[in-house]
Amino acid sequence: MKRRIIPIFVPHRGCPHDCIFCNQKKITGVTTDITAEKVENIIKDYLKTMDKDAQIEIAFFGGSFTAIDISVQKKLLSIAKKYVDGGIVKDIRLSTRPDCIDENILNVLKENKVTIIELGVQSLDLTVLKDSIRGHSDIDVIHSAELIKKYGFQLGLQMMVGLPSDDEEKSLYTARKFIELSPDFVRIYPTLVVKDTGLEKLYKEGMYHPFTVEKTIEIVKKLLVLFYEKNVKVIRVGLQPTEDISLGKEVICGPYHPALRELIETRMYRDYIEFLIKNNEIEASITVGVNRKNISKVIGNKKSNLFYLKEKYRLTLKVVEKNIPYEEIEFIYNDIYEYTALKELYMHLHGIYNL
Ligand code: SF4
Repeated sequence: MKRRIIPIFVPHRGCPHDCIFCNQKKITGVTTDITAEKVENIIKDYLKTMDKDAQIEIAFFGGSFTAIDISVQKKLLSIAKKYVDGGIVKDIRLSTRPDCIDENILNVLKENKVTIIELGVQSLDLTVLKDSIRGHSDIDVIHSAELIKKYGFQLGLQMMVGLPSDDEEKSLYTARKFIELSPDFVRIYPTLVVKDTGLEKLYKEGMYHPFTVEKTIEIVKKLLVLFYEKNVKVIRVGLQPTEDISLGKEVICGPYHPALRELIETRMYRDYIEFLIKNNEIEASITVGVNRKNISKVIGNKKSNLFYLKEKYRLTLKVVEKNIPYEEIEFIYNDIYEYTALKELYMHLHGIYNL
């Protein structure tokens, strides 16, 4: 069954904070506050475009939903709840801060049929949290995540890579702590410098240097290995592109790439193939058989993996479509045939990356 999302942006409304990287109004591309009437209209408009048999979810993105005045939360949610009660919508999702969750709020969310809560955690390193002016601690994250699970909601955790004071070690620490919290899914965002934020000021003063795309790839590939091998779903890597999110408009600089996840997964395949080459003295060629959906990731954007291996090892990489499951892969080199689950490949990468 197809899953369809009705996104409702709640820009900065109710958020008492001003995190260094955030200008919520700019990120969502919406500048007006949302009302119950607008929620109703958005839902109706989206429903007109959706198949009857789709599995539909209403998602309140942006801002800190549970920091809004409780009566407004109830009003907005009651509209969404109507559609769940009517059997039209299956899930209601919202995102919020870790320090804006308590038992009272969770009771209201339960009553209004919310099923999925995403916490904008960003980091679990105390220095990164402080330098990003997040205004909450790692303990807030642990408490709220545990409470959300206890109440039976699905838990999503969002992390950012490249915040002030962040580095590879701190990002890996955050990912490992996430895994301990058993989230149902994770999102990973690279830190971009957005106009009219504290980060823009720091950047202009020369006090903040964003990660490059290359550095982001090198770090996030390791995070993905940690999550994938523990079966933690990573539902997004990179910022949702909107009309405003493109370099030179609202985003001033930072590791923005429209296909960041694909670049990272391409690198993971390349690393594993290099590992095979070095350990098996492969000289002429290596053939990789994959499900159609994985072909472009193994080949790489603009055939990057083909060119890289040719140039560095004078070796031909042949990628062929095979009628095998998405989660499996085969390698043929010298006289060896290797058929493996991607999960095992991630375990090898764990060792290759010294995790
Ligand atoms: S808490 Fe969320 S919405 Fe509020 S400033 Fe920070 S990132 Fe933006």
